[in-house]
Amino acid sequence: MEVPLTIKETQEALKKRKINCVDLVDYYLDRIEKNDEKINSVLTVSKEKAYEKARKNDNLIKELGDRAFIEFPLIGVCVIHKDMFLTRGIRTTAASKVLEDYIPSYSATVVDRMDKAGCITLGKANQDAWAHGSSGENSDFGPTKNPWNLEYVPGGSSSGSAAALASNFCLVTTGTDTCGSIRLPANYCGVCGLKPTYGLVSRYGVIAMASSLDSMGHFARNVDDVKRILEVTKGPDGYDSTVSSCYREFRVKDFVKIGVPREFFGEGLEVEVRRSIEKAIETFERMGHQVVEVGLPHTEYAIAAYYIIQPAEVSSNLARYDGIRYGRGRDFFGDEAKRRIMLGSYVLSSGYYDAYYLKAMKVRSVIIKEVEDVFEQVDLLIAPVSPSLPFQLGEKTSDPLKMYLTDIYAATANLAGIPSLAIPSGFSDNGLPLGFQLMGPRFSENVIFDLAEKYHREINYKPSIAEL
Ligand code: GLN
Repeated sequence: MEVPLTIKETQEALKKRKINCVDLVDYYLDRIEKNDEKINSVLTVSKEKAYEKARKNDNLIKELGDRAFIEFPLIGVCVIHKDMFLTRGIRTTAASKVLEDYIPSYSATVVDRMDKAGCITLGKANQDAWAHGSSGENSDFGPTKNPWNLEYVPGGSSSGSAAALASNFCLVTTGTDTCGSIRLPANYCGVCGLKPTYGLVSRYGVIAMASSLDSMGHFARNVDDVKRILEVTKGPDGYDSTVSSCYREFRVKDFVKIGVPREFFGEGLEVEVRRSIEKAIETFERMGHQVVEVGLPHTEYAIAAYYIIQPAEVSSNLARYDGIRYGRGRDFFGDEAKRRIMLGSYVLSSGYYDAYYLKAMKVRSVIIKEVEDVFEQVDLLIAPVSPSLPFQLGEKTSDPLKMYLTDIYAATANLAGIPSLAIPSGFSDNGLPLGFQLMGPRFSENVIFDLAEKYHREINYKPSIAEL
């Protein structure tokens, strides 16, 4: 049996009774069981709950007919959640041994809303422990492999979410993006990944990494699916005071002005990545959009500011895992978490606060202003997600600084709180996924989606899955 690769096609098949929800769960769980040993993308499978929900959905479809698809817009959508999202009654570990046996008593808003919209949760995805990492290699439960080539990393920290999707273990996945953790794995695994505007999707019930930067997003195989999920997850829930429903909707125009920030195309950008984006730019021009070069001169300080602000917030957020309230004791923290707790405590301590934390916050303000100014000139920005193609497992693990530099093109969107969508554009000569990110002003998701969809139509993009 084959299953459809998008929400629209899956729901059409369900409507026509070509398939039912129990069949879908059968298919995905069987595929996980047979293949995940080599990918290591799934930490927990929630088999019983999945079947229970599938049967419930099948009954709803029987009873309500097509109305079920209106009342439950994500009915039949099988999802694997990143293990940062609390899932009631399903183990949630953040891929850390500290939480190895933790079973939450409530679900994150994102999980809850997707559940209520008809999603079927199949399980939880592997990731870098506490979302610290860019390759998936920091998981306490072993690294995830890139399904397109098992010797390469899938990108992190939402490694399992992207790898599971590219492996066709489910239809969609969720992720968190504090500095690229959705966009990078999406880029490395050939799927779409959305980091929404900070303040669009509630962080309630998601294990906090760095609270002023954390964005709750998702992965899917095409832009239409990304849109459908955001429709369900966005908006205030009363539990996250940074989430607002008061924002200006952007008008979608036929033709947009796209900025190419020159600082994102400097030294260190791999030739093949650069070429692929140049090709995308040519496509946009051919489609009639205007493309202009713009400057974001403080981009070079973004990653330095991020690696001060983020550990500062991490050191505060991880203080609650003291072995008294949740999970196991502090000695179960891995090296990367310890490194960040120490760095964070240092930059916040008296005598160093002004020199490091305060200065980084000032740089952040400058970057925010610069980003605001650039969106006075252009509608959207196009940029690489990462300076390189997926790298080999083990290539950067001994050099944390080198690993941190993987995020140089990701940091701007998180520091400025703007939305960014990573989309696939094809494959490299050696069969690894290529793509780019489109960024826009705060709450401009609809403009980004529109352009991304038009681009995919233009290049005749078809979602594909890795052969396992
Ligand atoms: N690679 C970044 C880090 O390790 C990104 C983390 C994230 O987005 N969760 O901090």
